[in-house]
Amino acid sequence: MRFSGLRVLREGLTGNKGWKPHWRDPEPKSDYDIVIIGGGGHGLATAYYLAKRYGMKNVAVLEKGYLGGGNVGRNTTIVRANYYLPGNSEFYSHSLKLWEGLEQDLNYNAMMSQRGILNLFHNDGQRDAVIRRGNAVVNQGDDAEILGREQLRELAPFLNLDNNRFPIMGGLLQRRAGTARHDAVAWGYARGADRHGVDLIQNCEVTGIDIEAGVVKGVQTTRGPIRAKKVAMAAAGRSSQVAAMAGMRLPIESHVLQAFVSEGLKPIIDHVITFAEGHLYISQSDKGGLVFGSYLDFYSSYAARGNLPMVEHTMETIVAMVPAVAKARLLRSWGGIMDMSPDGSPIIDRTHIEGLYLNCGWNYGGFKATPASGDCFAHLIATDRPHEAATGFRLDRFETGYGLMDEEATGAQHNLH
Ligand SMILES: Cc1cc2nc3c(=O)[nH]c(=O)nc-3n(C[C@H](O)[C@H](O)[C@H](O)COP(=O)(O)OP(=O)(O)OC[C@H]3O[C@@H](n4cnc5c(N)ncnc54)[C@H](O)[C@@H]3O)c2cc1C
Repeated sequence: MRFSGLRVLREGLTGNKGWKPHWRDPEPKSDYDIVIIGGGGHGLATAYYLAKRYGMKNVAVLEKGYLGGGNVGRNTTIVRANYYLPGNSEFYSHSLKLWEGLEQDLNYNAMMSQRGILNLFHNDGQRDAVIRRGNAVVNQGDDAEILGREQLRELAPFLNLDNNRFPIMGGLLQRRAGTARHDAVAWGYARGADRHGVDLIQNCEVTGIDIEAGVVKGVQTTRGPIRAKKVAMAAAGRSSQVAAMAGMRLPIESHVLQAFVSEGLKPIIDHVITFAEGHLYISQSDKGGLVFGSYLDFYSSYAARGNLPMVEHTMETIVAMVPAVAKARLLRSWGGIMDMSPDGSPIIDRTHIEGLYLNCGWNYGGFKATPASGDCFAHLIATDRPHEAATGFRLDRFETGYGLMDEEATGAQHNLH
């Protein structure tokens, strides 16, 4: 079933009776070439590119809950390519290019909206860092502009530029950045993978990884054992627990990050805006709700819900940045489990066990990485060589100390990245 304007029109005129489920609901087979653990954005994108680019169709994605029920459906949907460090910058640049063609590629409306991201800065040090970052982004071939206060006043008149504690000096604008509808991205990749023959198995928790003489043989699941020549871990916040099934201890901590949505308001905020002093990021959804978030809760947890101190901090920051929203009511909030690495950058690598592959360490920023992560992980699984856009995401950098990508320069403190 292909989607098109004509199809929508026809279904609208005939009572919407012709729509079919977007993917099959198969029983797990006893044997696959490749098993992917985790039906989030990264696992589904990996399955899609494995089937589409490498013709590998005897693939299963095993998801312990429902597809898109993890962080891929819980994030604040920001997509951008404005990283500074080599290693990260080319990867996110590759990702943004994939985002730009994703809806056509998947034949799925992911509501990709290149509304631009504006990173505000408040002091000389931040300004210098932002200018360096902007230059790096332009050099990598993406767009970046530095804006002064007068340009900001015109672009975003609701900003409290003269906030007493954190006056706003300017901003870094990337026009090609923006948002995409998070769960539609999961559904689009799921439908695409299914159309290429991948089995998407929901309510199937992996409980063990079978290894014989250093070679992976398959997995144990709540729906029975499944043999596989290759097993790929893409379990995001649960990565440490899944890798522990293979006897591995990952350099990953799991932390809670919260997101918030206000009641629907008339259009006010056109861009994604970030406020450096409170680490606030905000955009407005098509339904009018302000979608925003800030820091982690600052301690490790597997609870997918947040705590009040960070709610209070986030509300203080949003009012400092945009006083006009002080009267808006908060509609809902939730939490997701982040897989935090010591340098804040991800891991896409083989492991010391033959046939076992690892994708994790996405911190706050794995949604924007979804297409490139899937593409690069599929390349690694299919060819056993890293994709050229992801050569820096090695697991052993935390053992050797060589090749760390500490984008935020906050050191080996998971909770600060
Ligand atoms: C509140 C919040 C806001 C965020 N905002 C942004 C943002 O604006 N921009 C951005 O780029 N990133 C953002 N992120 C980060 C981004 O959402 C994550 O980095 C990314 O979604 C992680 O990859 P994933 O989609 O594959 O994870 P998930 O969707 O969590 O997928 C992992 C899946 O693995 C499954 N799983 C775990 N264990 C097992 C098992 N044993 N067996 C089978 N399945 C298992 C889980 O159920 C889950 O579905 C945000 C995250 C949160 C929580």
